[in-house]
Amino acid sequence: MRILLVEDDMLIARDVSLHLERAGYLVEHARMGEDGWFLGAEEEFAAAILDLGLPGMDGLSILRRWRGAERTFPVLILTARGSWQERVEGIDAGADDYLPKPFQMAELLARLRAIVRRSHGQASAVLAAGALLLDTRARTVTVEGLPIDLTPLEYRCLHHLMLNRDRHVTQLELTEQLWAQDFERESNSVEVLIGRLRRKLGRDLIATKRGFGYRIDAE
Ligand code: CA
Repeated sequence: MRILLVEDDMLIARDVSLHLERAGYLVEHARMGEDGWFLGAEEEFAAAILDLGLPGMDGLSILRRWRGAERTFPVLILTARGSWQERVEGIDAGADDYLPKPFQMAELLARLRAIVRRSHGQASAVLAAGALLLDTRARTVTVEGLPIDLTPLEYRCLHHLMLNRDRHVTQLELTEQLWAQDFERESNSVEVLIGRLRRKLGRDLIATKRGFGYRIDAE
């Protein structure tokens, strides 16, 4: 799952990136306001973490431009502690949640999980498909109560399919969500990954529709 991080404080950016990557996200970082705005306007992200005080274009302007251009991905804004005006302006501009600085990394991760879930209409931290349960907090998967051992990549792939189970997910979309760099992407990577998931989770869980992509198929 790709997350856009727009933050000019390099220490915070490094720390946040590290924790997000450890939690299984792919992170695209921008330091300058314009760069952050451009990435959010042009590329697909599951969510953005947006600092408000940025060099060049400020965070609120970025957010208003995204929303004005119908970019609807969830946005968590980072605000100065005690600045209720910033929070009000941020929420009015289309932020989904806010976090005052300084913050605990665990709280950032929890708020991020929550806004991503809500953006897919999921109120619960546990996603279910038939006998399969995916716990987004513990990052565990069980089938009929039995734990299934997945690699981080397999987990990310399954998580993306579960969040989007109301539609088909194309191979291209999965490729973009799962691999940060072009050179990591091989043409058959997604097929190989889906094959491994089917072996671990049962052949029928992930259906393929030619020309449309993959979709979780369970009651
Ligand atoms: Ca800043």
